[in-house]
Amino acid sequence: NLSDIAAPVAVAIDLPTGIGLPSASGLPDHAFTHDGQITKRPVRALTLSALAPRPGETLWDIGAGSGSISVEWCLAGGRATAFERRADRVANIARNIADFGIDHLMHLVEGAALDTIADQPTPDAVFVGGGGTPALFDRLFDLLPPGTRLVANGVTLETEALLIDLHAKRGGTLLRIELAKAEPLGTMRGWTPARPVVQWSVTL
Ligand code: SAH
Repeated sequence: NLSDIAAPVAVAIDLPTGIGLPSASGLPDHAFTHDGQITKRPVRALTLSALAPRPGETLWDIGAGSGSISVEWCLAGGRATAFERRADRVANIARNIADFGIDHLMHLVEGAALDTIADQPTPDAVFVGGGGTPALFDRLFDLLPPGTRLVANGVTLETEALLIDLHAKRGGTLLRIELAKAEPLGTMRGWTPARPVVQWSVTL
């Protein structure tokens, strides 16, 4: 029974009732069960836009965390396989699949992505939100047919350096997403910056 496993930080689906889900990507973070490791709403909206889902297409969501990217891909009409190596996050993903009622669309694979992706049906698009090592990208370039859309987000210097190098070698679009949100600062307000996210998008 998944609801017995972990006390989630956020409780799933806490949206206004009676008016349905919004049809744009970028649902509130609190719509998902997560432990804080989630692609935040504005960056998630930009990521879905870069992934560009079409009805019936398949996504691989590598380092799925809460599964929020896969969930929004499925809500846009696709099918997704979420790859996650941490058991506690696998439990959160399973809960989100159940809460959004998309178990017929979204598949979950536990384990290190390098070992598990080869067994899965070929995707139309791939998102790398975690586990983006040189070895993983090499495996993806071997496995994926031309025309596959690949989007990778990096927040660490190491991943950023790798994405800058991949962009130099393979082209595509490199985007740095720097956002700040107004928050209380003493009696006034100030901008609280979020860590920059570097996003590489390419069509193979
Ligand atoms: N996009 C996600 C957040 C990703 S956080 C969301 O919106 O919820 C990155 C995740 O990648 C973490 O949960 C981490 O456990 C996972 N990860 C890192 N390396 C991995 C690997 N080699 N295989 C599978 N998952 C991996």
